[in-house]
Amino acid sequence: MALTSRAVLLARRPEGMPVLADFAVGDLTVPDPGPDEVVVENHFLSVDPGQRGLMNGGDSYVATYQVGEPVTGRAVGQVVASRDPRFPEGSHVFHRVGWREHSLVPTSAVRAIDVARAPESSYLGVMGHPGLTSWLGVARVADVRPGDVVLVTSAAGAVGAAAGQLALARGASRVIGSVGSAEKAAYVTERLGFTDAFVYKERSLADYVAAQVPDGLDVVFDNVGGVQLDEALAAMRPHGRLALCGSISTYNGEPYTLKNTGLLLSQRLRAEGFLVFDHEDEWDPFHAEMAEHLTEGRVTVEETLHRGLDAVPQAFLSLFDGTSTGKALVDVRP
Ligand code: NAP
Repeated sequence: MALTSRAVLLARRPEGMPVLADFAVGDLTVPDPGPDEVVVENHFLSVDPGQRGLMNGGDSYVATYQVGEPVTGRAVGQVVASRDPRFPEGSHVFHRVGWREHSLVPTSAVRAIDVARAPESSYLGVMGHPGLTSWLGVARVADVRPGDVVLVTSAAGAVGAAAGQLALARGASRVIGSVGSAEKAAYVTERLGFTDAFVYKERSLADYVAAQVPDGLDVVFDNVGGVQLDEALAAMRPHGRLALCGSISTYNGEPYTLKNTGLLLSQRLRAEGFLVFDHEDEWDPFHAEMAEHLTEGRVTVEETLHRGLDAVPQAFLSLFDGTSTGKALVDVRP
C-alpha cells in the first residue's frame, strides 16, 4: 500500500548564498514499487556542495532541480518493499533519490552496500563518492608519488580529509592542508596526520607557501578554485600536477578569473579536472583499497551528523559557512 512520507522541496531558486527560506518540507506519497523498483527507508542523507549548481536550473551535466519539487541527493538505507529479487526487503542500499524519508527507486539506480565491511553512513563519505573522488584525484589524476610535497584545499572537508591521508599513505613527504579555522587546522594535523596546515582566512596561500614551502609544491588537490587555485598555480614546482576536483568558492555566483594560467606552460604544469561520475566502474578496486586503509587506521574521516529531515536545509548551508567538518550527513532513521 502506498505510504505517506516527507521530503525536502526546493521552494525557490537560491540567489547567491542559499538560505533556509529556499527550502520547504512537505508530504510525499510513495507508491508501491512496480516491476524492478524498490522502496527504501532512508537512514542517512548526504548534503553535497555540487547540489548547489543544480538549484540554479539551466544546463548541467546532471538534471537540475525544479521549484516546488523534492530535491534529490545521495542516500543510504534499507529496502522495505521490493519487486526485484536482487534487492530483497532488508537489503542495505545506496541510491540518489534522497532528501526524503522514503524513496521509490528503479533498481537500475540502486547499489548494494556491505554494512559488515564498513558502517552504513560511510557509504556516503569515505566509502562513497567523496572517498572515490579523493582516491581518483590522488592516485589517478595527480599520481602522488613518494617524496611529493602536496597541498590540499578544504582539507577538513569530506574529500579533502581523505585526499590528504591517501597522499600520506602513498609516501608524500609533506601534506599541507588549507582550512577555514584554527580548529580545523588542529583536526587535520592532530587527528588526520597532515604535516602542516594554515588558515586561509588569516593568511593567504601565497604568503604561506613563500614562507613555509620555499621550494614550492609538487601536487595540489584543489576543492575550492578561485583565489586559492590561482595562488597555487604560482606556488608550483616545474612539472607539478594539479587535480582540479571542485570550486566551492565560486558555487554561489562569486566569479573569479584566474590570472596565473600562463604558468601552466612556463612551469610545464599538468592541471586536470575530473568527475567521479565518469568512474562508476571503479567501485570494486576503490572499496578494496579504502577498506584496507580504514582497517589499518591510515584513513579516518569525521562525520558532522545532523538529525531529522527538517535539518537537511541547515546541513546543506553548513557546507558554505564552514561549520561542517568531514562529511556532512543527516540521520533520518525513524
Ligand atoms: P567539503 O569540502 O566538505 O565542503 C565544505 C567545506 O568547504 C566547508 O566546510 C568549508 O571549509 C569549505 N568552503 C566553503 N566555502 C568556501 C569558500 N568560499 N572558500 C574556501 N573554502 C570554502 O565538500 P566535499 O563534499 O568534500 O567536496 C569538496 C569539493 O569537491 C567541492 O568543491 C565539491 O563540489 C567537489 N567534489 C567534486 C567531485 C568530482 O567528481 N570532481 C565529487 C565530489 C565533490 P573551510 O571551513 O575550511 O573553509
